Amino acid sequence: MQSFIFLLLGLIVGSFINVLIVRVPRGQSIINPRSHCPDCGHELKAFELIPVLSFILLRGKCRECGVTIPLRYPLVELMTGFLFLANFYLAAEPVELISGMVFITLLLPLSVIDLREQILPDKLNLAGMAAGLTLSFFRVDFTPLTSISGILAGGGFLFALAIISRGGIGGGDIKLMLFTGSFLGAPLVLISIFLAAILGLIASLPSLFRGQMGLKSKLPFGPFLALSALILWYFGAELLSFYLQLF
Ligand SMILES: [Zn+2]
Repeated sequence: MQSFIFLLLGLIVGSFINVLIVRVPRGQSIINPRSHCPDCGHELKAFELIPVLSFILLRGKCRECGVTIPLRYPLVELMTGFLFLANFYLAAEPVELISGMVFITLLLPLSVIDLREQILPDKLNLAGMAAGLTLSFFRVDFTPLTSISGILAGGGFLFALAIISRGGIGGGDIKLMLFTGSFLGAPLVLISIFLAAILGLIASLPSLFRGQMGLKSKLPFGPFLALSALILWYFGAELLSFYLQLF
Protein backbone atom coordinates (compact mmCIF):
# COMPACT_ATOMS: atom_id res chain seq x y z
CA MET A 1 0.00 0.00 0.00
CA GLN A 2 2.80 2.39 0.98
CA SER A 3 4.69 1.65 -2.22
CA PHE A 4 1.53 2.40 -4.21
CA ILE A 5 1.25 5.79 -2.48
CA PHE A 6 4.82 6.70 -3.44
CA LEU A 7 4.29 5.54 -7.03
CA LEU A 8 1.16 7.70 -7.22
CA LEU A 9 2.90 10.67 -5.60
CA GLY A 10 5.69 10.30 -8.17
CA LEU A 11 3.18 10.34 -11.05
CA ILE A 12 1.63 13.55 -9.70
CA VAL A 13 5.01 15.22 -9.10
CA GLY A 14 5.95 14.06 -12.61
CA SER A 15 3.22 16.18 -14.12
CA PHE A 16 4.56 19.15 -12.12
CA ILE A 17 8.03 18.36 -13.50
CA ASN A 18 6.53 18.58 -17.00
CA VAL A 19 5.45 22.13 -16.16
CA LEU A 20 8.98 22.96 -14.93
CA ILE A 21 10.50 21.58 -18.16
CA VAL A 22 8.44 23.92 -20.34
CA ARG A 23 8.27 27.04 -18.18
CA VAL A 24 11.55 27.40 -16.25
CA PRO A 25 13.78 27.92 -19.35
CA ARG A 26 11.37 30.66 -20.47
CA GLY A 27 11.37 32.38 -17.09
CA GLN A 28 7.60 31.86 -16.82
CA SER A 29 5.70 31.45 -13.57
CA ILE A 30 5.17 27.81 -12.62
CA ILE A 31 1.80 28.55 -11.01
CA ASN A 32 0.09 30.96 -13.40
CA PRO A 33 -1.46 30.57 -15.90
CA ARG A 34 -3.09 27.18 -15.32
CA SER A 35 -2.08 24.28 -17.56
CA HIS A 36 -3.22 24.81 -21.12
CA CYS A 37 -2.62 23.49 -24.63
CA PRO A 38 0.45 25.31 -26.01
CA ASP A 39 -1.15 25.31 -29.48
CA CYS A 40 -4.73 26.55 -29.02
CA GLY A 41 -4.60 27.80 -25.41
CA HIS A 42 -7.43 25.48 -24.33
CA GLU A 43 -7.32 25.35 -20.51
CA LEU A 44 -7.07 21.79 -19.25
CA LYS A 45 -9.95 20.41 -17.18
CA ALA A 46 -9.37 18.19 -14.16
CA PHE A 47 -9.87 14.97 -16.13
CA GLU A 48 -7.26 16.11 -18.67
CA LEU A 49 -4.68 16.55 -15.93
CA ILE A 50 -4.53 12.99 -14.60
CA PRO A 51 -0.94 11.74 -15.02
CA VAL A 52 -0.48 9.13 -17.78
CA LEU A 53 -4.18 8.20 -17.78
CA SER A 54 -5.30 11.44 -19.45
CA PHE A 55 -2.71 10.96 -22.19
CA ILE A 56 -4.11 7.49 -22.92
CA LEU A 57 -7.76 8.63 -22.74
CA LEU A 58 -7.07 11.58 -25.06
CA ARG A 59 -4.99 9.29 -27.32
CA GLY A 60 -2.14 11.78 -27.07
CA LYS A 61 -4.08 14.65 -28.62
CA CYS A 62 -5.51 17.98 -27.41
CA ARG A 63 -9.28 17.60 -26.97
CA GLU A 64 -9.90 21.02 -28.50
CA CYS A 65 -7.55 21.37 -31.49
CA GLY A 66 -6.21 17.82 -31.91
CA VAL A 67 -2.54 18.82 -31.75
CA THR A 68 -0.30 15.90 -30.73
CA ILE A 69 0.83 15.91 -27.07
CA PRO A 70 4.50 14.90 -26.89
CA LEU A 71 5.17 11.40 -25.54
CA ARG A 72 7.58 13.16 -23.17
CA TYR A 73 4.67 14.03 -20.84
CA PRO A 74 3.58 10.49 -19.85
CA LEU A 75 7.21 9.28 -19.97
CA VAL A 76 8.38 11.89 -17.46
CA GLU A 77 5.39 11.06 -15.23
CA LEU A 78 6.10 7.32 -15.34
CA MET A 79 9.80 7.86 -14.76
CA THR A 80 9.15 10.06 -11.72
CA GLY A 81 6.70 7.46 -10.38
CA PHE A 82 9.24 4.64 -10.57
CA LEU A 83 12.12 6.79 -9.29
CA PHE A 84 9.98 7.73 -6.26
CA LEU A 85 9.13 4.08 -5.75
CA ALA A 86 12.80 3.03 -5.86
CA ASN A 87 13.67 5.89 -3.53
CA PHE A 88 11.05 4.64 -1.07
CA TYR A 89 12.57 1.16 -1.04
CA LEU A 90 16.17 2.31 -0.74
CA ALA A 91 15.89 5.22 1.73
CA ALA A 92 17.19 4.36 5.19
CA GLU A 93 15.33 7.03 7.16
CA PRO A 94 12.53 9.60 6.72
CA VAL A 95 14.69 12.65 5.98
CA GLU A 96 16.65 10.66 3.40
CA LEU A 97 13.31 9.66 1.86
CA ILE A 98 12.27 13.32 1.58
CA SER A 99 15.73 14.34 0.34
CA GLY A 100 15.52 11.73 -2.41
CA MET A 101 12.18 13.08 -3.60
CA VAL A 102 13.51 16.64 -3.70
CA PHE A 103 16.65 15.41 -5.50
CA ILE A 104 14.60 13.65 -8.21
CA THR A 105 12.12 16.53 -8.56
CA LEU A 106 14.95 18.95 -9.48
CA LEU A 107 17.35 16.59 -11.24
CA LEU A 108 14.86 15.16 -13.74
CA PRO A 109 13.71 18.51 -15.22
CA LEU A 110 17.36 19.66 -15.43
CA SER A 111 18.27 16.60 -17.52
CA VAL A 112 15.30 16.94 -19.86
CA ILE A 113 15.82 20.70 -20.30
CA ASP A 114 19.50 20.11 -21.09
CA LEU A 115 18.60 17.44 -23.65
CA ARG A 116 16.04 19.70 -25.33
CA GLU A 117 17.71 23.11 -25.13
CA GLN A 118 21.33 22.57 -24.04
CA ILE A 119 20.91 24.75 -20.96
CA LEU A 120 20.82 24.03 -17.24
CA PRO A 121 18.76 26.80 -15.61
CA ASP A 122 20.48 28.44 -12.60
CA LYS A 123 17.18 28.60 -10.73
CA LEU A 124 16.91 24.80 -10.52
CA ASN A 125 20.62 24.23 -9.80
CA LEU A 126 20.81 26.83 -7.04
CA ALA A 127 17.48 25.83 -5.50
CA GLY A 128 18.86 22.29 -5.47
CA MET A 129 22.06 23.30 -3.72
CA ALA A 130 20.12 25.28 -1.10
CA ALA A 131 17.77 22.32 -0.54
CA GLY A 132 20.64 19.84 -0.26
CA LEU A 133 22.45 21.97 2.26
CA THR A 134 19.30 22.62 4.32
CA LEU A 135 18.28 18.94 4.39
CA SER A 136 21.81 17.93 5.43
CA PHE A 137 21.12 19.44 8.87
CA PHE A 138 18.39 16.84 9.48
CA ARG A 139 19.72 13.75 7.73
CA VAL A 140 21.09 10.81 9.71
CA ASP A 141 24.63 9.73 8.69
CA PHE A 142 25.06 12.89 6.63
CA THR A 143 26.20 16.22 8.04
CA PRO A 144 26.25 19.81 6.74
CA LEU A 145 30.03 19.39 6.55
CA THR A 146 29.62 16.45 4.16
CA SER A 147 27.23 18.53 2.10
CA ILE A 148 29.66 21.46 1.92
CA SER A 149 32.51 19.09 1.05
CA GLY A 150 30.40 17.78 -1.83
CA ILE A 151 29.64 21.30 -3.08
CA LEU A 152 33.31 22.29 -3.00
CA ALA A 153 34.65 19.02 -4.43
CA GLY A 154 32.05 18.69 -7.20
CA GLY A 155 32.05 22.33 -8.24
CA GLY A 156 35.81 22.67 -7.87
CA PHE A 157 36.64 19.54 -9.85
CA LEU A 158 34.35 20.47 -12.73
CA PHE A 159 35.64 24.04 -12.70
CA ALA A 160 39.17 22.67 -13.12
CA LEU A 161 37.95 20.38 -15.92
CA ALA A 162 36.27 23.35 -17.62
CA ILE A 163 39.56 25.26 -17.66
CA ILE A 164 41.52 22.25 -18.98
CA SER A 165 38.91 21.37 -21.62
CA ARG A 166 38.59 25.00 -22.73
CA GLY A 167 34.84 25.28 -23.13
CA GLY A 168 34.01 21.57 -23.29
CA ILE A 169 32.19 21.99 -19.99
CA GLY A 170 29.81 24.86 -19.35
CA GLY A 171 28.99 26.94 -16.29
CA GLY A 172 25.68 25.08 -16.03
CA ASP A 173 27.51 21.77 -15.60
CA ILE A 174 29.60 23.27 -12.80
CA LYS A 175 26.50 24.59 -11.02
CA LEU A 176 24.83 21.22 -11.47
CA MET A 177 27.69 19.73 -9.42
CA LEU A 178 27.08 22.31 -6.67
CA PHE A 179 23.55 20.89 -6.55
CA THR A 180 24.33 17.16 -6.71
CA GLY A 181 27.40 17.62 -4.48
CA SER A 182 25.23 19.09 -1.73
CA PHE A 183 23.14 15.89 -1.71
CA LEU A 184 25.90 13.33 -2.28
CA GLY A 185 28.93 14.62 -0.36
CA ALA A 186 32.54 14.69 -1.50
CA PRO A 187 33.52 11.11 -2.33
CA LEU A 188 30.29 10.25 -4.14
CA VAL A 189 30.04 13.42 -6.22
CA LEU A 190 33.56 12.83 -7.54
CA ILE A 191 32.74 9.22 -8.39
CA SER A 192 29.59 10.48 -10.16
CA ILE A 193 31.70 12.73 -12.40
CA PHE A 194 33.92 9.82 -13.44
CA LEU A 195 30.88 7.63 -14.04
CA ALA A 196 29.31 10.41 -16.15
CA ALA A 197 32.46 10.70 -18.25
CA ILE A 198 32.43 6.95 -18.91
CA LEU A 199 28.72 6.93 -19.77
CA GLY A 200 29.12 9.99 -21.99
CA LEU A 201 32.02 8.38 -23.83
CA ILE A 202 30.07 5.16 -24.40
CA ALA A 203 27.07 7.13 -25.68
CA SER A 204 29.18 9.12 -28.14
CA LEU A 205 31.08 6.06 -29.49
CA PRO A 206 28.64 5.25 -32.33
CA SER A 207 28.83 8.72 -33.85
CA LEU A 208 32.59 8.91 -33.20
CA PHE A 209 33.04 5.77 -35.29
CA ARG A 210 30.92 7.19 -38.08
CA GLY A 211 33.11 10.26 -37.95
CA GLN A 212 30.17 12.60 -37.49
CA MET A 213 31.59 14.21 -34.39
CA GLY A 214 34.92 15.56 -33.42
CA LEU A 215 36.27 14.78 -29.99
CA LYS A 216 34.43 17.84 -28.80
CA SER A 217 31.01 16.25 -28.86
CA LYS A 218 27.76 18.15 -29.22
CA LEU A 219 26.12 15.80 -26.74
CA PRO A 220 25.21 17.75 -23.58
CA PHE A 221 27.11 16.47 -20.53
CA GLY A 222 24.36 17.45 -18.05
CA PRO A 223 22.08 14.41 -18.51
CA PHE A 224 25.04 12.07 -17.95
CA LEU A 225 26.05 13.95 -14.81
CA ALA A 226 22.45 13.79 -13.60
CA LEU A 227 22.06 10.08 -14.38
CA SER A 228 25.30 9.23 -12.57
CA ALA A 229 24.32 11.36 -9.60
CA LEU A 230 21.03 9.47 -9.42
CA ILE A 231 22.76 6.07 -9.61
CA LEU A 232 25.04 7.12 -6.74
CA TRP A 233 22.10 8.49 -4.76
CA TYR A 234 20.55 5.01 -4.88
CA PHE A 235 23.61 2.76 -4.64
CA GLY A 236 26.47 5.05 -3.53
CA ALA A 237 26.60 3.99 0.13
CA GLU A 238 26.68 0.28 -0.83
CA LEU A 239 29.29 0.96 -3.50
CA LEU A 240 31.49 2.89 -1.10
CA SER A 241 31.33 0.27 1.68
CA PHE A 242 32.02 -2.51 -0.84
CA TYR A 243 35.03 -0.58 -2.11
CA LEU A 244 36.35 0.04 1.42
CA GLN A 245 35.97 -3.66 2.25
CA LEU A 246 38.50 -4.46 -0.47
CA PHE A 247 41.24 -3.00 1.69
ZN1 LIG B 1 -5.09 22.52 -28.33
